[in-house]
Amino acid sequence: MKGFEYLQQELDQMKANGTFRELIPLESKQGSRVTIKGKEVIQLSSNNYLGLTDHPRLKEAALQAIERYGAGTGSVRTIAGTLTMHEQFEHKLAKFKHTEAALVFQSGFTTNQGVLSSMLTDQDVVISDELNHASIIDGIRLTKAGRKIYKHVDMQSLEERLRESESYRTKLIVTDGVFSMDGNIAPLPEIVELAERYGALVMVDDAHASGVLGDNGRGTVNHFGLDGRVHIQVGTLSKAIGVLGGYVATTQTLKDYLIHKGRPFLFSTSHPPAVTAACEAAIDVLLEEPELIDKLWDNTKFFKQGLEQLGFDIGISKTPITPVMIGDESLTHRFSDELFKEGVFAQGIVYPTVQKGQGRVRTIVTAEHSQEALQEALHAFEKAAKTLNIL
Ligand SMILES: *Cc1c(COP(=O)(O)O)cnc(C)c1O
Repeated sequence: MKGFEYLQQELDQMKANGTFRELIPLESKQGSRVTIKGKEVIQLSSNNYLGLTDHPRLKEAALQAIERYGAGTGSVRTIAGTLTMHEQFEHKLAKFKHTEAALVFQSGFTTNQGVLSSMLTDQDVVISDELNHASIIDGIRLTKAGRKIYKHVDMQSLEERLRESESYRTKLIVTDGVFSMDGNIAPLPEIVELAERYGALVMVDDAHASGVLGDNGRGTVNHFGLDGRVHIQVGTLSKAIGVLGGYVATTQTLKDYLIHKGRPFLFSTSHPPAVTAACEAAIDVLLEEPELIDKLWDNTKFFKQGLEQLGFDIGISKTPITPVMIGDESLTHRFSDELFKEGVFAQGIVYPTVQKGQGRVRTIVTAEHSQEALQEALHAFEKAAKTLNIL
């Protein structure tokens, strides 16, 4: 069909540059070892931090929910698609996060879009870290609010933006809790202090911190002892929680407002029973099996130490996200391909996901990896680096 020639040209250019990538389907379930192209490899690219995608309690909860409530809900939440289990789960989430209320959206992505696009008008300003997640950027694009960007985790730059913003009604500072491409943690205590000094609200996107940081995986706000001082916590149910969805943990006022004005909430169908039931079981697992989080951190320390001893540059991470910095885009992809030959699946991440010349193979260990598997992975990194003359 004609009409797409200009897109094909751009794709051809990407192929020439070595940045075009095919999707890579797993032939097995998600886990610490997966089958890809008929080969069993160690998985180091998933966000399945605690191995919950395959946890027996989540699967059992999903199966029972399907038996009792069916496969789908047939409506958006605001018309006929709210089941009691949706509300029960939100109560449980709010309690878990130590907030007044919580509201679930279809995904973390739509949570950011829904919250940012609905609560801000042209009387308000949003002040955003330059490396915030794409869904925050898109949410900001949907508001008529003033927009200010501060330098990555730079508190002086944030303070300058706050000083310029005095005339606005609501000033909202928004940051990732853990930055997904580098694994560093936002300096929340300093951000909250500045916010309090300048009368601003704080919104934290804890997609990579939920289930990872804080007591029982409550996230960065709890990790820093800031419960009650952060106005809006966004989380995902799609990463450590192992299923699908996003949520905002906040005040009853903002929850009520979002039920009326949050467009993804209003205009997109609610989660199927299996999803909600599995998410609810996942919160129980966080509360009752905290040893999974301990194992995640033990594995993180072991793997980071191993990479460092081999001489890799692993950036500034303070979390299980460990980037192995390569630089050149095409070399990054070749390193990832070489790792695959050695039995490790670790995807290259390049521009435009990260800045040009900052290509990296991003690894995330999980609670499911055995130390033998991680040792095996370290050997693969060493061999692949030797083949490509990287170290
Ligand atoms: C993954 C991610 C999201 C999106 O969450 P989904 O539930 O996958 O849509 C939002 N924000 C950040 C920081 C993320 O890392």
